[in-house]
Amino acid sequence: MIKNDLKKQINKHIEKMSNPLSEMADKIFDYAEMGFQEYKSSALLCHWLETRGFKVMRGICGLDTAFRATYEFGKDGPSIGLLCEYDALPIGHACGHHLQGPVMLAVADALKNIVFDTPFKLIVYGTPAEEGLQGKARMLEKGCFKDMDVALMVHAADYTTVDVKSLAGARLDVKFKGVAAHQSLAPELSRDALDGLILAFQGIEFLRGHIKDDVRLFYGIKDCIGMPSNQDQTKAEGYVVFRTYHSGDVGELEKRIANIFKGAALMTGTEVEIVKSHEMVGKLPSHILNKLILDNAEALSAPQILRPYRQKTGSTDFAFVSRQVPSAVCRVAFVPEGTPSHSKAFLEAGKSQRAHEAILLGAKIIAAVVVDLIYNPETFQAVLQEHQRIKAEEQKLSSASFQVS
Ligand SMILES: [Zn+2]
Repeated sequence: MIKNDLKKQINKHIEKMSNPLSEMADKIFDYAEMGFQEYKSSALLCHWLETRGFKVMRGICGLDTAFRATYEFGKDGPSIGLLCEYDALPIGHACGHHLQGPVMLAVADALKNIVFDTPFKLIVYGTPAEEGLQGKARMLEKGCFKDMDVALMVHAADYTTVDVKSLAGARLDVKFKGVAAHQSLAPELSRDALDGLILAFQGIEFLRGHIKDDVRLFYGIKDCIGMPSNQDQTKAEGYVVFRTYHSGDVGELEKRIANIFKGAALMTGTEVEIVKSHEMVGKLPSHILNKLILDNAEALSAPQILRPYRQKTGSTDFAFVSRQVPSAVCRVAFVPEGTPSHSKAFLEAGKSQRAHEAILLGAKIIAAVVVDLIYNPETFQAVLQEHQRIKAEEQKLSSASFQVS
C-alpha cells in the first residue's frame, strides 16, 4: 500500500476512537495518581490493551504500576517502543501525563489493525513515576527497554515541537552534626550544625559566579532540631539540586559542591554526611526521529509548530532511555504559547477540547513516524547509525571533560 494512503487510513481509525480516548484521558486526569501509586490509571490502560488483543504483562520490573504490551506482525521487523507516563503532580495532572496513554494506545491499535504488508513489532511500555522518581531509570536497571530498536513518546506542551537536550544532574542530601553545650556557660564547647549548613549555602552562592551559564542550583533546609535558646543546633539537614545540559560536567560539579559542604564543616567544627540521589543523565538526541516527527506534524497542520527545536528543557527520566536506543518525544500544543507546565493553567486545560484534540493529533504524528520507519529500511538504519555516532561522541566528550577537571 502507498505510504500516504496508509497514513490516511490510520488517521481515520484514530479519529473513530476519539470519544473513548477522551474519556480515558479524563478518567486518568481525575484519578490524579502520583508516582508509583498509579494503580487505577495503569489498570485502565492495561485493560484496554488486553481487550484489543495485545499481550499485556502487568507489574513488570518489580514495579506494580509498570506494564508492557506487545503485538508482532511477521518476523524480524523493526521493534518500535511506544512509551507512556501517567503519574500526576501533587496539584494533579499539571504536566499533561494523562494524555500520553490514550495517544500511545491509539497508535498501537491503529497500526495493529491497518498495517498488514510489512513486518513490525510494537511494544507499549507503561512507565510510572516520571516526576522526580525516575521510574524509567529503575525499569532500565531491571533490564527493560532492551527489546526495542527505537523509543517514541508524546508530551503535552505549549508548542508542537521536539527536544534536542535535557538537563543532567543530581541531588545531594546533607546532614550536619554539631556538639551541644550551654551557649552562655560553655560556648567554647558547642558546635552549631546550622552554622555549617548556612555557611555551605553561602559557599554555593559564591560558586554561582564560577560555573557555566547553563548550571542550575537550588538548595533548601529539610530539618533542624529545635533546641532551647541557650543551646546550639546539633542537627541540621538540607539538600542541593544541581543541573546542567553538559552531562560530562556532572562529576566535576558534584565534587565542587561536596567540597563546599566539607569546607563548611571544617570551618564550623561540625561533621557532615553527604548522600547522592536522583541522578539524571542528559538526553541524547535523535535528529532523524526529530525531523520525522516535525515533518509529519507539519503535514498534519499541527498548531503552534516551533522550529528550530525547543531549547529550554528540564530533566526527564526518558533521557536514560535515549542512551539505550534512539529516542524522541513529540511535544503537542494544547495550551497557548508560553503557558508553563506544572502550572494552574496547564492543569485547568487538562480536560479541554484542545487536550482531546491533542490526543488525536499526537497519535496521528507518532503513527506516521512509525509508518516512515517500518516502510523505509534506509531511514530506520540511518536512525540506528546516528545513535551510535552520537553516543560515541558524547562518551569522548565526557571523558575529555573529566580529564580537564
Ligand atoms: Zn511531564
